[in-house]
Amino acid sequence: MRAAVFYGPGDLRVEDVEKPEPGPGEILVKTSVALTCGTDLKTYLRGYPFTKPPLIMGHEYTGIVEEVGEGVDWVKPGDRIVTVNSAPCGHCIYCKLGKPNLCESLMDQIIGFTVNGAYAEYVKVPPRVARFNLYHVTEDVEPVEAALLEPFSCVVRGQRLIRIDLGDTVAIIGAGPIGLMHLLLAQISGSKKTIVIDISPDRLRFAEELGADVTINNRDENAVERVKEETNGLGADVVIEAVGRVETWEQSLSLARKGGKVLLFGGCPSGTKASFDTYMIHYGELTIQGSFHLTPQDVLRAMRIIESKKLPLKRLITREARLDEIVEMFNRIRQGKELKVAIRF
Ligand SMILES: [Zn+2]
Ligand SMILES: [Zn+2]
Repeated sequence: MRAAVFYGPGDLRVEDVEKPEPGPGEILVKTSVALTCGTDLKTYLRGYPFTKPPLIMGHEYTGIVEEVGEGVDWVKPGDRIVTVNSAPCGHCIYCKLGKPNLCESLMDQIIGFTVNGAYAEYVKVPPRVARFNLYHVTEDVEPVEAALLEPFSCVVRGQRLIRIDLGDTVAIIGAGPIGLMHLLLAQISGSKKTIVIDISPDRLRFAEELGADVTINNRDENAVERVKEETNGLGADVVIEAVGRVETWEQSLSLARKGGKVLLFGGCPSGTKASFDTYMIHYGELTIQGSFHLTPQDVLRAMRIIESKKLPLKRLITREARLDEIVEMFNRIRQGKELKVAIRF
């Protein structure tokens, strides 16, 4: 079968590899669609701490069950399914504490990072993922919508933690695919006003098209002042950082009103240190919330929202391509020409 194999930073090759066979508890899926993701681009450019090449990349996908391994009786060949890229072990201390996103062995079986992924004609779903984080895809859900399950589940997790209240003004820093998913979800969460902040005019225009009430260019305008203007001098009720840079982490606190909530969603490079005005956090009684990855409950809730068809999530896919165009597509994303690309098989 054809697959995009990562050999090291900057070295991704589309080549023929052996079609995998499902072992006990595993499921072999014929890929319909695989999406590009910012993390894939980062891995392609710089590598990923847990990724040992050679490895087939790709983790946002959907497809049709080709074959099931021993003991799998919840799906059968021909079923349309989607999975996320990981699943918790169920027995470590964090799983028992009800924090399965922090599972101690989460990294053991991550599709596209530590086990072969979905930039391939077939993908083998590891046992844990097959058991905990797999869903059937109903007829009216399009493959590109289903394939968004993993990143959208992470967004759902973040907003479940931060809880947007009715009538809140929500400021989102970052208008990439993740920031825009936060925007779409905030719009159906009872918010009064959504403000999107980015440095790219193209992305801000797209945020406007998706219904952002206010957009702010973080390079040309004073975002803190503008957010105050839009909130009667108060600051936003909820601020979501979806960039993953120290400057925007630090900025996010200045955008919140007293008593407001800040979701630090974007992951910065490891070792990053940020500094904050303690006065704001103490006397302003800010709630600062981190968010990492997803839990099976987030996946369930994300799947329900995808099935509801209430969000135009598929608009985040700006182009379709073939597998052998993958490197070109990563370059287009890097140049800001695409948000997400759907690789069709
Ligand atoms: Zn992803
Ligand atoms: Zn665990």
